[in-house]
Amino acid sequence: MDTPQLNSLYQQLILEHYRNPRNKAELDEKTVEVHLANPVCGDEIRLQLRIDDGRIADAKFVGQGCSISQAAVSMMTTLLKGRSLGDADAIAKRFTEMMHGSEEAAKDKALGDLRALRGVSKFPVRIKCALLGFDALQEALKKTAAGATASGASGERR
Ligand code: ZN
Repeated sequence: MDTPQLNSLYQQLILEHYRNPRNKAELDEKTVEVHLANPVCGDEIRLQLRIDDGRIADAKFVGQGCSISQAAVSMMTTLLKGRSLGDADAIAKRFTEMMHGSEEAAKDKALGDLRALRGVSKFPVRIKCALLGFDALQEALKKTAAGATASGASGERR
């Protein structure tokens, strides 16, 4: 699918992340991995996090799909490094609010480059593309919380 018509400055930033994705690699010593797909568009990502002492020590992904989905996860992983799990959850919620049209969320500097995706909220079919990375993140946070209470071990699966 093509990138929908967005503000051109935002569009450039999205394409820049799409062409030069940050953190696109397999992560050694990951503690949690989540694989999610958006079959409507053909987007697919595997998000890999290394969580250490309640913080995201590292975040990487592998995946393929449209510019919106891949740029969003590239921007997201950049923003997540070094964050506490609580912060990561707050960013995910904020971004989801922005995707559902919240003007207030769209002004929040905490979202960094992700604000370039605000225009996507006007294209209902593409909202799932933008949210794919954050849906994976929220799943990873849930898995981590469940793993921590069960055994303190990771949710890793191969
Ligand atoms: Zn897509």
